[in-house]
Amino acid sequence: MTWAQKSAANLLPLSVERAQLAVALQEWLYTGDMYDLGTPIETCELCKHPDIRYQFKIINRHNGNEILVGSECINKFRISAIDELGNILGCDESRRRVNRDRRFLVNEARKRHLVNTLVALSAVEENFDINSFISYVLDRDAFTPNQLALLFWRLDQHEIEYSPRDFKLTIRRDREKNQLRQMEDWKLQKLWPSMSTSQHTWVRKHTNFEP
Ligand SMILES: [Zn+2]
Repeated sequence: MTWAQKSAANLLPLSVERAQLAVALQEWLYTGDMYDLGTPIETCELCKHPDIRYQFKIINRHNGNEILVGSECINKFRISAIDELGNILGCDESRRRVNRDRRFLVNEARKRHLVNTLVALSAVEENFDINSFISYVLDRDAFTPNQLALLFWRLDQHEIEYSPRDFKLTIRRDREKNQLRQMEDWKLQKLWPSMSTSQHTWVRKHTNFEP
């Protein structure tokens, strides 16, 4: 069975329209309910694609039936989303809404992971002021270069596993740019995976560091 045939077999019995997939799809709406399962363990209830981690609920506007699908399916089948006021969005806007919601889930997961890493560090290092770091990162969603270098050094020392991509760097202020300018290469190497593309460009331009 093709992807569309599989989807038709799953969607038509739950729709008012029982014959044509394209017509049935117009009965369904994405209303903003979305879930992060933490790991890719689910199957898309529309196309049966496996390994779904982020689930999006679509609802049939005529009979109230609901299924949980991947964001890909909402985009590929051009299922309409609604905005916060309940207005049905057009094709491009629907796509933007779904993609924005997915980014939100990914970002929330990253922040949770980051906070868990900080908590693990505070458990082994008494002098580490976890609360100030957590409130700083929740406030700005990024660390200064010196903060991040110190954090990574401590995490390495305690052999705590972490993913550098969970951490973001800020170099908006001059003070923060100066920290990077004066930083030793081995520290810059550590921070490199946490930097954005524009930060990589900045470092290449303003320091002698070669990753
Ligand atoms: Zn699907």
